[in-house]
Amino acid sequence: MSRIRVAVIGVGKIAQDQHLPVIAGNADYELVGLVSQRGVHAAGVPTFATPAELYAAVAVDAVAICTPPHVRHALAREALDAGKHVMLEKPPAATLAEMHDLTGAAKAAGRVMLATWHSRYNAAVDEAKARLRGKRLKRLAIEWKEDVRRWHPGQDWIWDAGNFGVFDPGINALSILTKIAPAPFFVKSARLLYPENRDTPIAASLVFTSPAAATGAPLSAEFDWRQEGEQSWNIDIETDDGAALRLTHGGSRLLVDGAATVEAPMREYEGIYAHFAQLLRAGESEMDFSPFQLVGDAFLVGSRRSVAPFVW
Ligand code: NAP
Repeated sequence: MSRIRVAVIGVGKIAQDQHLPVIAGNADYELVGLVSQRGVHAAGVPTFATPAELYAAVAVDAVAICTPPHVRHALAREALDAGKHVMLEKPPAATLAEMHDLTGAAKAAGRVMLATWHSRYNAAVDEAKARLRGKRLKRLAIEWKEDVRRWHPGQDWIWDAGNFGVFDPGINALSILTKIAPAPFFVKSARLLYPENRDTPIAASLVFTSPAAATGAPLSAEFDWRQEGEQSWNIDIETDDGAALRLTHGGSRLLVDGAATVEAPMREYEGIYAHFAQLLRAGESEMDFSPFQLVGDAFLVGSRRSVAPFVW
């Protein structure tokens, strides 16, 4: 198969940290252009101010859309209209209706679309899934607590309605949960904390139910962007046969009954691009809604409280 001519739209932190180096390191791909409002450049490829200019000037097979989520739907539609395959950074869109629309539009256009959930591309997550198959859960506790000033410096868009706030990282934990859980999870209640000067939550507490667990079993998630000091990206699970699983470091390490079981360097984006190449070869899209549904449901059933204003 000839190399996949790929362009990156939105050349911010994740595009520069992961997409560009991973594309450069994968022989299946050839980077042919960037679309950057700020005019970010990469060696050897042209930068365009808009996707329309890119499509008019360069032969492109696929685009990776690495912008904030609230502008992704229009960009993805435009790419499909131009006949391109599409990789969507997470969260894949601003609303579920937009994601449904993109799923249908990709199918109608005969193009491949991948909603990436990068945290799923970890060997520890695969091992946890295998160990939970057919099991009953006694307890589940997600703790996803990080310092927003450290991980999202200057990213004002995260506070704009439609851009998820603390669920921007929190949806990563939910993407792991929805991959490894032996049965669906439902949001029973949620408490969302909004800085009084912002439109997205800075913290959220979720309580779940699931047919994978007895009624009343503690199944919870805590997301918090106010965490200073040690950062936590952990998922603890106990099964009713007495096993204790602990996924740490964003899903890259698994401890079973306290013993390190899988500990691999993070190669999430290498996995994403390898998977996208397979999907392109097979002509298949992959649009898993399940992490997004849990976030949407948290907004639907959640109570809302105002907390101290947030300033950078
Ligand atoms: P970022 O550093 O703010 O980059 C986003 C880029 O998108 C901007 O720099 C800008 O690049 C472009 N853009 C286009 N329209 C925009 C608009 N209306 N407002 C702001 N930027 C706009 O953000 P990021 O951290 O890379 O995150 C982007 C997406 O990747 C998010 O959905 C996030 O959840 C996801 N993600 C981030 C990380 C991470 O570690 N940061 C990890 C995994 C996934 P140009 O000027 O080049 O057009």
